[in-house]
Amino acid sequence: MFGYETRDGLAMEETFHGRSSYFQQQISLAKDFVLKSEKPTGAPVNCPVCASLLSESLFEKWGLCYFLCEECWTTFAPVVAQEVKDFEKNSLLTELRRSEEYQQSSTQTRHSSWISLLKWVEHRLFRYSLRKGDWRVLIRGLRYEGLLKLIRKNPLISLTDIKGSIVAPDCYSENGYDAIFYLDTLQRRAHPLSYLQQANVFLNPGGFLFLTTRIGTGFDLLTLKGSSENIFPYEHIFLPSVKSLSLLLGKAGFKVLEASTPGMFDMAHIYKQRDALEAGNLFARFLTTEYNERMFSDFQKFLQKHGLSSTVKIVAKKL
Ligand SMILES: [Zn+2]
Repeated sequence: MFGYETRDGLAMEETFHGRSSYFQQQISLAKDFVLKSEKPTGAPVNCPVCASLLSESLFEKWGLCYFLCEECWTTFAPVVAQEVKDFEKNSLLTELRRSEEYQQSSTQTRHSSWISLLKWVEHRLFRYSLRKGDWRVLIRGLRYEGLLKLIRKNPLISLTDIKGSIVAPDCYSENGYDAIFYLDTLQRRAHPLSYLQQANVFLNPGGFLFLTTRIGTGFDLLTLKGSSENIFPYEHIFLPSVKSLSLLLGKAGFKVLEASTPGMFDMAHIYKQRDALEAGNLFARFLTTEYNERMFSDFQKFLQKHGLSSTVKIVAKKL
């Protein structure tokens, strides 16, 4: 087993070892939807973070083109925004994810990572707000009933509202929250800046944003690129670097208090998909032929420590 639980606990990403039996089914449903969907045509597109027009074509997946900004290392896929909304709200994939069986399976495979996530939130809220509870929280775009139940049972959180979830109706007010959770939602937003600016509107002055998301500068994505089975439209269309995400949060009115990359599965993904490595990628090919569990684990720890893994956890404060 590769990867380690960090001091801050597990990341939200797919638990590789206990990966849901629904994974391939989800990929298949996503592919069917995206192949039939309308794609943007024509004019070159600005980077959604720095607005640069200098980007290189990185890969194409299911007819959708992904670009890498040469200025800020953001990976992004220009999309027809309505298609992304339909994918999120009305697709067969969403129907599957709403099902009782899927929700039960997710609770089984993710429960321990949710506990770790909530500990991380509790510690940080206390550290930065110096309040021992009575926190009012808004969650955006949550997919898991089990996680919602856990948050609502937390004795330190006095109010849990929700917006844009596939498992619970909207229930929120226009402002007045101490914290807002964006858990793996930014990666599927067509307009990431305005999405982050909305977080600012909902928060009290000095309120906190807790954000987890995939990033484009993870070792597995930059190595596997379009062959990565873990990155696919419209689930992942905005994949910033840690630096470009900090820049975007600044534009949205936030100050980043801390950022870490606790991703655990870059090396596991590369080893599992070693047959898909490009012929010219000699280092990665050599690495996988020289497979050694300890060496791979050390490599993964290095990636985590230096911000090179595939997920990021951020605490940011409303300015
Ligand atoms: Zn850029």
